[in-house]
Amino acid sequence: MTHPTSTRSVCVYCGSRPGADPAYAQAATTLGTALAGESWRLVYGAGDVGLMGLVARAAQEAGGETFGVIPTHLLDLEVGKRDLTRFIVTENMHERKKVMFMNSDAVVVLPGGAGTLDEFFEILTWAQLGLHDKPIVLVNTGGFWDPLVALVDHVIDQGFAAPSLKDFITVADTPDAVMTTLRTRLA
Ligand code: AMP
Repeated sequence: MTHPTSTRSVCVYCGSRPGADPAYAQAATTLGTALAGESWRLVYGAGDVGLMGLVARAAQEAGGETFGVIPTHLLDLEVGKRDLTRFIVTENMHERKKVMFMNSDAVVVLPGGAGTLDEFFEILTWAQLGLHDKPIVLVNTGGFWDPLVALVDHVIDQGFAAPSLKDFITVADTPDAVMTTLRTRLA
């Protein structure tokens, strides 16, 4: 399931909305700029809405490579961003997630909604099953993901997962902290 790329590629899952706090948009922009600054390729859902659009625009403006994957039925709804370095249209969501994952060396999760959570949990369960060992980093802007971390703790406390489930997740408070983690993990 792992297809390493020559240049480092970082998959970013994030909201198709900007969220309530402008700090989320700021984090998306800062992350996109930082990925490009490192010459790492951004892999994401190819939309031009919400945090998705912001992270991609920031990476592009900083001269970074962008790789977007979107299913046909979302081309209008999520405003398919066709000026990416690579713009891939898939038949469905499952194919989209697979193509994004296979073309990434790490996964970063910005604030987001149900879609972002779906993507996070899929990649976490695949790690739990030993299908990959790619870093999974939560960008905990303003403590946004604290309830998610508490839920994972609760699941472990109540005996539904091994304590090692936590080991698959890195919580970073800022995009800078994300980059520090990834520089070490992707070295
Ligand atoms: P959201 O966090 O709900 O704004 O969604 C973020 C991204 O995840 C969007 O590109 C959605 O199209 C995508 N998404 C929504 N639902 C799913 C799902 N079930 N599986 C995979 N991606 C999804």
